[in-house]
Amino acid sequence: MRKISALILFVFILSGCTLVDYETNSQIKYGLLVINQTDIAESSIIPLRGEWLFFTHELLSNREIEKRIITSNVDKEYLPRTWNDSLRNITDYATFALYLKIPKEQIGHTFALSTRFQSSAYTLLVDGMPISTSGSVGTSKDTSAPSMTPKIGYFVPNSDKILVVLQVSNFEDNVGGPSEEILFGRANAIVNYHSDRQAALLFMNGSIIIIGIYHIIIFLYRKTERPFLYFGLLSLFIAVRSLFVGPMLLQMQFSHLSWFLLKRIEHTLIYGSVLVYIGFISRLFPREAGKKIVYIVIAIIMPLLLLTWVTPPSFFKSLFFDIFPLAFILMIFITIILVKAFVNKRPTALMNLIANLLFFITVVNDYLFAKGLIDTLMLSIYGFFFYVILQAFNLSRNYAKNFHESELLSKELMTLNTSLDKKIHERTYELQLKNERLKQLTELDGLTGINNRRYFEDRLPICFRKSYKDKWPLTILMIDIDEFKKYNDTYGHLKGDDLICHTVNIMKDIVADRGVISRYGGEEFAIVIRDMGEGEARILAEKIRSSVENAKFEHKGRSDIQFATISIGGTTTFMHSFESVSDFIEAADQALYQSKNSGRNQTNFL
Ligand code: GH3
Ligand code: MG
Ligand code: MG
Repeated sequence: MRKISALILFVFILSGCTLVDYETNSQIKYGLLVINQTDIAESSIIPLRGEWLFFTHELLSNREIEKRIITSNVDKEYLPRTWNDSLRNITDYATFALYLKIPKEQIGHTFALSTRFQSSAYTLLVDGMPISTSGSVGTSKDTSAPSMTPKIGYFVPNSDKILVVLQVSNFEDNVGGPSEEILFGRANAIVNYHSDRQAALLFMNGSIIIIGIYHIIIFLYRKTERPFLYFGLLSLFIAVRSLFVGPMLLQMQFSHLSWFLLKRIEHTLIYGSVLVYIGFISRLFPREAGKKIVYIVIAIIMPLLLLTWVTPPSFFKSLFFDIFPLAFILMIFITIILVKAFVNKRPTALMNLIANLLFFITVVNDYLFAKGLIDTLMLSIYGFFFYVILQAFNLSRNYAKNFHESELLSKELMTLNTSLDKKIHERTYELQLKNERLKQLTELDGLTGINNRRYFEDRLPICFRKSYKDKWPLTILMIDIDEFKKYNDTYGHLKGDDLICHTVNIMKDIVADRGVISRYGGEEFAIVIRDMGEGEARILAEKIRSSVENAKFEHKGRSDIQFATISIGGTTTFMHSFESVSDFIEAADQALYQSKNSGRNQTNFL
């Protein structure tokens, strides 16, 4: 669908740019062109094609020409014809003449003659009056100066027979001379014809230049996109070079520039186009193109470029024509590359192939046309315009596609990232829980589930310091099961473990959140009580002791009472000024020792 729309666009553009068809086919016969009333409508344009009177090596005026016609046989020469074809010698000058016979009704109207020769000096005279000049006509290299300025000359005939004289000299160009036909018509028709062609060309060249600049700007921001640079340059080169042909807009703008300089710039642009073109193709399809062809083209073009700037136009222009058939070989190579790319299913290969083939056909057409082998129109600028549109379409589409893909990828990456983030959060949380649990495990006693000695020893110093600093009492109770060894001996270790657990449960019930219980050793426990006066702490300790006693756990191994009891030793920071935690623990231990020594099952405070 897209390809079809591109084709439609091309046809549409071409139809907008079609050149005016000449209204007549009448040819000049031996220096005379008879124009009928029907031929010379308001808008008709008559090419002055055919047998002009021809005076070689002479620059003649009207009067002399008229004299010669009467007195001697005059040569005739078919125009348009390049200098080279007619004289086989590029350094020459000559006069061409022609009688135009117009209908009587046309006398007094304004007419125009348009000349578009590129490479000669000429003066066009109507009835003896010069109406347009390009450069200066001379009889030697020193007196002749070429110019490329296309001109429209106006005149008002005062009889029905008009003598048109064209004086030409050429000492510089190998294809100089009246190479393009002179157009004759009513002034309006000629002006319109030129402005139409100029508008069409300006439209296309303007578009191509903008597309070229656009691609170069993209390249400047993305240096990796080399095809954009080559394509941009190619567009600029071809568009600027096309200003040298056709209506020759450039020469009109820069007519002060020397003819030599313009010729050199034109050829530089042509060779430059070939270089960037091969660069473009080899960057687009590097695998199919390979490096060799690029090097070969560079090796051929570089010396040509150099010669363009150091040799005279007569040399480098003829060299250009000699070497031109190489362009056809290059086209064949490029077509092979594109066919390969198409077979390898490279993106845009087919579109490229179509665009290139169309462009090549127009180039071949122009070559044959320039050689006078076919009678068509210069088409390569239209072919290239189509090529540019297709390529711009290709490049933009590819670019947009890549952009879209990278957008999708980055979206995917984003979702992946967020899910990864979530997973990492989950895992970190799990790990935190496990770490906490691990920490707890290292601080818990396996048998009873209360804190172990490590916990006790870690926390006690902190509480101890705070107690003095913040001035609240800290109490420690050291508790030991009485004659536990005997219990083990009587009931076995497992039962002993049970007794430890029962004792712990009783302590837990009583202390609740008023203190922190730790298992200090085998059947020894430490209870740390914060912010409780000594009296209250003593009462609490006593309650623990009596609760164990009242539980009446059987202990037949004892000699006096037959149930289990505990001994408690306590101390409070508030009442003493302990220098260190160990002094503090030592004091509680002393108190416990007293309880043991005084017969067990009792509480003592130091
Ligand atoms: P005292 O009244 O002087 O405290 O006498 P005791 O027998 O309780 O004193 P001692 O500290 O000499 O004995 C403690 C015993 O506790 C020694 C050991 O066999 C026992 N023991 C230590 N840890 C455990 C334990 O985890 N389980 C059991 N069943 N027994 C333990
Ligand atoms: Mg003990
Ligand atoms: Mg004991």
